[in-house]
Amino acid sequence: MKQRINLLMKEQPAGQKVQVDGWVRTRRDTGSFSFLELNDGSCLGNLQLIADKELENYESEIKNLTTGCSISVEGELRESPAKGQKVELHCTKVQVVGWSEPETYPLQKKRHSFEFLRDMSHLRPRTNALGAVSRVRSRLSFGIHRFFNERGFHQVHTPIITTSDCEGAGEMFQVMTVEESAGNVKPEDAFFGKTAGLTVSGQLQAEVYALALGNVYTFGPTFRAENSHTSRHLAEFWMIEPEMAFCDLECNMQLAEDMLKFVLADILENCGEDMVLFDKFIEKGIIAKLKGVIEKDFAHITYTEAVENLLAAKQKFEFPVEWGIDLQSEHERYLSEELYKCPLIVTDYPASIKPFYMRVNEDGKTVAAMDILVPGIGEIVGGSQREERYDILKERMVAAGIEIDEYEWYLDLRKYGTVPHSGFGLGFERLVQFATGMANIREVIPFPRTPGSAPC
Ligand code: ATP
Ligand code: MG
Repeated sequence: MKQRINLLMKEQPAGQKVQVDGWVRTRRDTGSFSFLELNDGSCLGNLQLIADKELENYESEIKNLTTGCSISVEGELRESPAKGQKVELHCTKVQVVGWSEPETYPLQKKRHSFEFLRDMSHLRPRTNALGAVSRVRSRLSFGIHRFFNERGFHQVHTPIITTSDCEGAGEMFQVMTVEESAGNVKPEDAFFGKTAGLTVSGQLQAEVYALALGNVYTFGPTFRAENSHTSRHLAEFWMIEPEMAFCDLECNMQLAEDMLKFVLADILENCGEDMVLFDKFIEKGIIAKLKGVIEKDFAHITYTEAVENLLAAKQKFEFPVEWGIDLQSEHERYLSEELYKCPLIVTDYPASIKPFYMRVNEDGKTVAAMDILVPGIGEIVGGSQREERYDILKERMVAAGIEIDEYEWYLDLRKYGTVPHSGFGLGFERLVQFATGMANIREVIPFPRTPGSAPC
């Protein structure tokens, strides 16, 4: 049976006969045999192969193997005398599956910059760092599903094409047929009978299901026509949005904190080798940082306290601070990185800077919102308790200029058995950035979409 290198490394069954497939990373010849480093993508580590010159295709093929060639090998695992590895594979057969042109193959042994690799999203997952990011991303996704599943949440697939555009004002991509985009169709004859776009959030639809199933979550692609060239924004990203009935802001914050700790602990336990790579080459000390995050309670402050902290700061900010402003990235990072030095939950933002669906507090000025800010990134989670009172919600919608007719369904949720309910949105790529230390969000999604760029 064919085996994967990650399992061989774990079990290291010296003496066993195995078959492995993979890509050659390097070849080094001695007088009587060649060393080949084989990687199969299952883990960061390579399996060392020993190919003896007695093999029938040694001169004709093995000695011509270069970086990137794919091969299938058979042999026996033996204890290795070399440092840093317990076993090596003594080949009895090396079959070349695919050659790789050595003159043009861009991934040479030296380290390439992430900017250089961005121009080849079809080859970059073969590098150590991007391969490690892909495995950790996959494990984080699995961890999120496991977290919710273990707590009895149901996953809901909210729509990707949406006609609820109230959230997306200005940031939505419109969806139309080719005919429509050529201007040959009257608006009333449009495919969906009205303007449609790509979702900017599945929250409103998740609320529908929370008020039927209790606790739900959606985890899907999200689109924003953000014309910002930052290291934290993409035009297409993935968002996790849980929504819970009979749950106030407190319970919402607790869930978000528990979820982040759960998935981070899971990668520390299951992606050890990849995490060591990040710790060595990407963000020194990241393993200790994540352990600290898991062990300590998150800090909690209100927006008003956050503004007081910022006003008292010695540091000069580009965007001036006063009560009522939306916190900018520099403010968020100062609070979590410099002042609290840990994940920080900021609550009770001014109603004027938050959307209509957030629950108005007793003071009439602030809403039951909560953002989680983390060192190095800033906002990673945005959430709130939702307005469950029919009259207040309607008033807020009218004030926000929303067409009530289009949102009768949303108001109905408050007319028939309304309950306090809450939820949040976690940007999946920002979580992957935080967990790996990658500075730019373009490195943590396989095929990044940003203004002016959409490879593959
Ligand atoms: P920001 O102020 O950073 O643009 P936001 O307030 O627009 O964020 P929300 O609408 O609250 O964000 O979305 C919830 C979460 O989705 C954010 O906390 C963030 O983690 C993530 N997110 C938002 N916009 C993007 C984007 N363009 N690319 C990647 N992730 C994003
Ligand atoms: Mg935004």
